[in-house]
Amino acid sequence: MSKLTIERIEIIPIQIKLTEPFVISKGPLTHANNTVVKIYTNDGLFGTGECCPYRTIHGETQHGSVAAGKDLAQLLIGEDAREIRKIVSKIDKALAGNASIKGAFDMALYDLNSKAVGLPLFRYLNGDADKEIYTDMTVSLLSKEKMVEKALKYKADGFPFLKIKLGDRPAQKDIDRIHAIRKAIGNEIPMWIDANQGWNYLEAIRVLEGIADCNIYHCEAPVPAGNIIDRRRLVDASPIPIMGDESVFDHFDAYRNLAEGAIDLINIKLGKAGGITHAMKIAAIAQGAGVYCQVGSFSETKLGITALVHFSMAWDNIIYYDLDSPLMQSEDPVHGGMVYHKDWKVTVDETPGIGAEFDLAFLKRFETYTIK
Ligand SMILES: [Mg+2]
Repeated sequence: MSKLTIERIEIIPIQIKLTEPFVISKGPLTHANNTVVKIYTNDGLFGTGECCPYRTIHGETQHGSVAAGKDLAQLLIGEDAREIRKIVSKIDKALAGNASIKGAFDMALYDLNSKAVGLPLFRYLNGDADKEIYTDMTVSLLSKEKMVEKALKYKADGFPFLKIKLGDRPAQKDIDRIHAIRKAIGNEIPMWIDANQGWNYLEAIRVLEGIADCNIYHCEAPVPAGNIIDRRRLVDASPIPIMGDESVFDHFDAYRNLAEGAIDLINIKLGKAGGITHAMKIAAIAQGAGVYCQVGSFSETKLGITALVHFSMAWDNIIYYDLDSPLMQSEDPVHGGMVYHKDWKVTVDETPGIGAEFDLAFLKRFETYTIK
């Protein structure tokens, strides 16, 4: 395959209304305000990536992601798109942080390269075509009664796992929520919980001990991301395993948190890692440490989540899947890509690349910034 010279890049901020507000301890989200990156080469080949800057977690806004994306795009014009690692190094060197928009560029490059060699992305990443992947469904942080209602609906819908958003104060309210949900749906469906940094150490330990017998597989982000000391104490004291999410953006965070004994599990997100290139490093560090991972997302569409599915197929230590964000959106602007089956098994096919593309009429509704 000869050189794939990057000729033009489009950056498109999009917006999709959620069917209902998605509520975490940091507040509600009513729309997915995502940024699409399309990278074109001189022979007409292109790749598409997407990110969802989540301001309360990334410290990135959609406006910021577009501005940073325009600057980064300048650096890519004329580069050989096959050189993903070189390009990722270049953008990391040029701009700190901004994992979200960097992840969209990286995703577009992987889409482009796997298309160029005619392979679905999971095969380009040496993935396992037969890996069984089932998504969970997330219950927003609402009143106890509303959360019970949602959990009952998702049970009736057949979801094999439920993820419950917590992180409220006082902590007893969260204990009451979990007990009420378990009473309503029974004990069989495994659940995991996510406090999104909402508790302190004492609140966290109170909740985790209070729900120890509720068939909870793990707890994401019990305390503020920067508080590695209390997270380490929780790993020692909690009856429920602790998963690093906001505390583990990239491979450096993964190494530090694992070396410090501050997490039992890692939630990998392409939008935190800065894309597949770095997400693979997190998965590898976890594998070396004997640590299982989950994959999760912000509010990406089916395109971003399909890329995440391909990535998941390449790592056998990824065993939990939070792939529900497209299910919360009021429209699906993506053709092709992952399929949700009746039992919530998720599959992708052999279409080259991510195998998904944004509807062009949908993208036309938004402004396109072209860099060439
Ligand atoms: Mg989380």
